[in-house]
Amino acid sequence: MNDTPKNPNTSNNPETPEIRHRNFIEDIIDADNASGKWASEAVDARVHTRFPPEPNGFLHIGHAKSICLNFGLAEQYDGLCNLRFDDTNPAKEEDRYVTAIKEDVQWLGFDIQENGPFFASDYFQKFYDFAVQLIQSGNAYVCDLTPDETRKYRGTLTEPGRDSPHRNRSVEENLDLFTRMKNGEFPDGSRTLRAKIDMSSPNLNLRDPVMYRILHANHHRTGSEWNIYPMYDWAHGLEDAIEGITHSICTLEFEDHRPLYDWFLDRLDIHHPQQIEFGPLNLSYTILSKRKLLQLVNENHVTGWYDPRMPTLSGMRRRGYTPESIRNFCERIGVAKRDTTVDVALLEHCIREDLNKRAPRALAIQNPLKLVIDNYPEGESETFVAINNPEDESAGTRNIPFSRELYIERDDFLEDPPRKFFRLGIGREVRLRYACLITCKSVTKDAYGNITEVHCEWDPDSRGGNAPDGRKVRGTIHWLSVAHAIPAEIRLYERLFNTENPNKAPEGSDFLANLNPESLTIVKTAFVEPSLANASPESRYQFERSGYYCTDKDSRPGAPVFNRTVPLRDSWAKKQAK
Ligand code: ATP
Ligand code: MG
Repeated sequence: MNDTPKNPNTSNNPETPEIRHRNFIEDIIDADNASGKWASEAVDARVHTRFPPEPNGFLHIGHAKSICLNFGLAEQYDGLCNLRFDDTNPAKEEDRYVTAIKEDVQWLGFDIQENGPFFASDYFQKFYDFAVQLIQSGNAYVCDLTPDETRKYRGTLTEPGRDSPHRNRSVEENLDLFTRMKNGEFPDGSRTLRAKIDMSSPNLNLRDPVMYRILHANHHRTGSEWNIYPMYDWAHGLEDAIEGITHSICTLEFEDHRPLYDWFLDRLDIHHPQQIEFGPLNLSYTILSKRKLLQLVNENHVTGWYDPRMPTLSGMRRRGYTPESIRNFCERIGVAKRDTTVDVALLEHCIREDLNKRAPRALAIQNPLKLVIDNYPEGESETFVAINNPEDESAGTRNIPFSRELYIERDDFLEDPPRKFFRLGIGREVRLRYACLITCKSVTKDAYGNITEVHCEWDPDSRGGNAPDGRKVRGTIHWLSVAHAIPAEIRLYERLFNTENPNKAPEGSDFLANLNPESLTIVKTAFVEPSLANASPESRYQFERSGYYCTDKDSRPGAPVFNRTVPLRDSWAKKQAK
């Protein structure tokens, strides 16, 4: 990418491949570049953003929006973007999350800089030294109020807070107590270090916010070295300053924290990045709260963070989403300074559009019904040529075996079909995809009246799919040769929640009440064509007439398992057309 301005409003037609919305952050950066704002700073004048996840869970599609924005701006302006772990809360952070997050960012197609990733915990000593500086300049004090008392003293939106009785301690006493907090002399929760700002500020964040709390906990990287841990608002601006960030882009809920971000950096008189807030991604039928996602995992409502029903990047990847489709989705939704909800159908549209271009086609039968071609010689077989991808000629062709006994989808047959049913019924002629024309003559049934076999005759002159006499055959169905078909497991996913806003719980319950009990159907009766017998995990296919599927890591040689990414039908495109 380069920094030439993009067409501000290419199109809102979802069929247009390159949609680029210019956003207000680009305007800010352009203005900064024009005025030379960062050139005068003691930092690299280039755009320098960061993506700062806390390693307390897996990344989800909302994080992808932030990743694409931050790394995207760095690419666009030939700048830098730091992947930085905001690991200041030892209680919830784990190394396995660090590993998963790095993998996700790289999978999306972004480079973790050579000297990255960065860790806030690497700056613990610097944070401490900055705190000492604020104590010395009279801008911070040690407070002995308990967490409960601190809350009570804080006041409310309508009432001012009250000064802590410890607010006017001498610098010496503060330094002594703070050192001893650090050395582990006091129990958890007994003291805090607070910024001395204004207990009557209309902005509650400025009412002497806590900078450090005492916590004797094991940190995933620093172990038991620290007995005090910095609060988010104190640490975050320092992390940005230390790394020479220029534009610190965060979600809207931090707007009220910006004055505090600015206050700390101004008091310390160090490099001062500009905090810019944007609207987070909310997605219909989807939960994007890490806390709730963790609950789904811990309470086994899903099989883990990697469950293909999860909105996590690793779940979506396993389900069959491509990084390109996710990046394209993020481009389309754009970036604005307001909180909106995006229709999940747009995300589904993006993956369909991408896979339509690249996924090889394959034949699969989920609910098999046996079809016998009575006039085809027993024990013989032949192959027909199938097109791998009609959207991509370079994908070539493959041969599919054909014989007297076939499987078709049970849904493709009705004994006595209505006129507009263009599939198979007694007396009807259909085309077997890539193969030939057949006419149904009769069925056999079991003792309960269920159809067990469909008997047909083929027209041997229709090899390839058309009759030499040019007669019109409307219906085309897909099939597999019984002798050659590979048994497979197919996992069909529906939305994990069956309400548009699953965060809104029904009276007297929580969000779990909105879980869709039918979000997973495991089909064990399926068959796929022989070329898929040993399909490797993460290979994606279009199963013709059905949807897009992705090979799961649970596959074994000769026993593949597929996850349905998304069915073929695109409700989004229809909605757009209206
Ligand atoms: P929490 O803070 O509740 O643990 P979080 O999702 O904000 O959850 P972070 O690790 O702080 O987790 O997120 C990292 C970055 O991703 C933050 O800069 C945050 O602004 C951004 N982010 C998180 N959720 C979204 C979202 N839904 N849309 C856009 N950006 C998001
Ligand atoms: Mg957050």
